[in-house]
Amino acid sequence: MIQFDHVYVERAVRDAPVTRDLLARLQPPRVTGIDDAQRMFKRPGQDFARQKRRPRLILARKRPPFLYAGTDRVASFGGERAVHYNDMVRNCLYDCDYCFLQGMHRSANILVNVNIEDYVAAVDDALAQDGSLYLSISYLSDLLGFERSLGLVRRWVEIARSRPGLEVEVRTKSDGYAAIQDMDPHDGIILTWSISPDEIARRHEAGTASSPQRLLDAGRAIARGWRVRLCIDPVIATDGWETSYRSLVDTVFRRLDPAGVEAVSFGVFRMHPDFLDRITAFRRSAALDTGVEHQGDVASYPEALRQEVFSVLQRHLARHMPAERIHAVHG
Ligand code: SF4
Repeated sequence: MIQFDHVYVERAVRDAPVTRDLLARLQPPRVTGIDDAQRMFKRPGQDFARQKRRPRLILARKRPPFLYAGTDRVASFGGERAVHYNDMVRNCLYDCDYCFLQGMHRSANILVNVNIEDYVAAVDDALAQDGSLYLSISYLSDLLGFERSLGLVRRWVEIARSRPGLEVEVRTKSDGYAAIQDMDPHDGIILTWSISPDEIARRHEAGTASSPQRLLDAGRAIARGWRVRLCIDPVIATDGWETSYRSLVDTVFRRLDPAGVEAVSFGVFRMHPDFLDRITAFRRSAALDTGVEHQGDVASYPEALRQEVFSVLQRHLARHMPAERIHAVHG
């Protein structure tokens, strides 16, 4: 359970059910009412790095939109279906060097939009219009990492159960599976573990679960009957990357039965150039400044290196899985 010393609550949601539930769970020592959470969250001149060390929780009411269309930097697993994401939670308790949220948000505080009924209504509208929806609920956070504190994945599992056509992806680098392992699996939920070579995780993914722990949890989820996918993204092409990522793939399929892994996606490091500029202004990281170049609306490795990563991973994954279950993401 994460402890927040200080929780800000927008007065408009003081009595909302999710607010009451979270305050009862978290028992924060200090709660302050505010008028406008968005203004607080977006205020210029905030010290992102300092806030990251001790984030505060902000409970807010979100106004539309409640669904966002993903770009090709978001899409994975074949892009055969449009990906949508929502922003019930913005920001993360982990501190990955390459996290684009550092460039997207002015604040590192954790913003939770508690009006879940509006997010669900937007899902229902999309389902009524299109018959199906692929929704990522953890694009702007690691929701399963927060599960012991916020309990929001559990809510979305129940929301999905009564909505045929809705697929909800929960992507994680956490050890939070234990917080939902008592639940009956549901086919509309896809648990996706984002995995990295252990040395990359230790060096660049501060606070996340170790790679062995992620694989252990993925194995437990498969055994329980959940749909499980894996995601090797972003590939960080530092010295020795080829050996590290080949070894990762071999380790994965020594520990997990390929038949239980629905799909694997991979993609190289990439980011909106504006976000990268903002991040490198306050954070020097080898993950971000080794050979990354601006290429129009994306910053990534040079094309030749991207193709090499693509080719190595595609070939190596294909030793373990049929090609139709392997998806490359090149945003
Ligand atoms: S786990 Fe994901 S959302 Fe959290 S800091 Fe790392 S990259 Fe960002």
